Amino acid sequence: MSDVTGKKTVIRGGRVIDPANGVDAVRDIWVRGGRIVAADTANSPENEEPEIIDATGLVVAPGLIDLHVHLREPGQSAKETIETGARAAAAGGFTSVVCMPNTNPSADSPATILWIKERAKKACVNVFPTGAITKGLAGEELAPIGSMVQAGIVAITDDGHCVQNHELMRRAVEYARMFDLPVFDHCQDYSLVGDGVMHEGYWSTMLGLPGWPAAGEELIVLRNILLAELCGSPIHCQHLSCAGSVRHLRDARARGVKISGEVCPHHLALTDEAVCGFDTNFKMNPPLRAQADIDALMGGIADGTVTVLSSDHAPHMAVEKEVEFDRAPFGILGLETEFGLFHHLLVERQKAIDLPRLIELLTVNPARLLRLDRGTLSVGAPADVTLIDPGLEWTVRPGEFASRSRNTPFGGWQLKGRAVRTVVAGETVWKL
Ligand SMILES: [Zn+2]
Ligand SMILES: [Zn+2]
Repeated sequence: MSDVTGKKTVIRGGRVIDPANGVDAVRDIWVRGGRIVAADTANSPENEEPEIIDATGLVVAPGLIDLHVHLREPGQSAKETIETGARAAAAGGFTSVVCMPNTNPSADSPATILWIKERAKKACVNVFPTGAITKGLAGEELAPIGSMVQAGIVAITDDGHCVQNHELMRRAVEYARMFDLPVFDHCQDYSLVGDGVMHEGYWSTMLGLPGWPAAGEELIVLRNILLAELCGSPIHCQHLSCAGSVRHLRDARARGVKISGEVCPHHLALTDEAVCGFDTNFKMNPPLRAQADIDALMGGIADGTVTVLSSDHAPHMAVEKEVEFDRAPFGILGLETEFGLFHHLLVERQKAIDLPRLIELLTVNPARLLRLDRGTLSVGAPADVTLIDPGLEWTVRPGEFASRSRNTPFGGWQLKGRAVRTVVAGETVWKL
């Protein structure tokens, strides 16, 4: 690395937590030319002064990665754009995000993937597109996966929808294996879930709203376990919401099946009782569930069954959400409250995991799943760094969000722990 040139920066005096390298110690991080470098390399050959970022009293982590966000472009820029979604990511401490293909048109062709990548060049964080599994996310015919790989997708998923035809899903998994391409799945059995809009249980009965039973998720989690086993190839289950899913995942992983899963903050923060005011900011897919499900998700995160955390950031306009509960679109914002909620709920309140483990679930684990050379502060890695103040108490103020939308149920919540500075390729892109 002796030929490293370019702008020189030192992030000085912070508690560096780099789970990929087993580091948890006070030290300086040197950056040159957008990459992490060793201190002696950074100081030669010229002696110009580095930019100094004072990290005293802060945690210095690899840039956070969210592998599940909806940036709404192309086609729905009134909700969010790649640019505003990236700003929301930066404000949440995220340096890389993976965007879902349920746009308009769907991201199911190389042309659309290239369009997204072109727009992403102007974004202040790294934006990695996924491609659809099936054309138009219709679940009937495979999308041109090979040519989308050439265009630069990092995974395939029909998120927002779920491939119901098991034979088609098997072919997608086998085809993806040829490219070592991750397969993500939104787990929802259509025949069982029907037009359910909230968790099927006591509260759906009380409120008279159609129920979305937990078994509707578990059926597809089990399908994916069977297909991962049959194909000998990995499948990643998105936004797990219920106790059964964690149990199936734990059993399958113990058998060596290549199955993984992620959990979102809202499924840890709230139960279905929150729907009783009919506020559509409590409507998401999969829905808020029962306390026993929250406990099981926490347990799955604590024992290593769940290896990745994500937001499922899903912006919607106020006019779309200001309708009857059963007619409103599913989904809430996530990026700007994600770290605070996870830290507050998992580390501070429940003590299910410690801070280094939380950082692992938000950095190196998603990076490995996606085969990205990120999520670490190793010498030579891109200088994506997040500075965190774990003791900072703050109030969620949706009016101050960088996102174009405001649909969050967490307005006014008091949280502890927040990213205070976001660095992408050595440049500060956001600062509290
Ligand atoms: Zn989904
Ligand atoms: Zn989603």
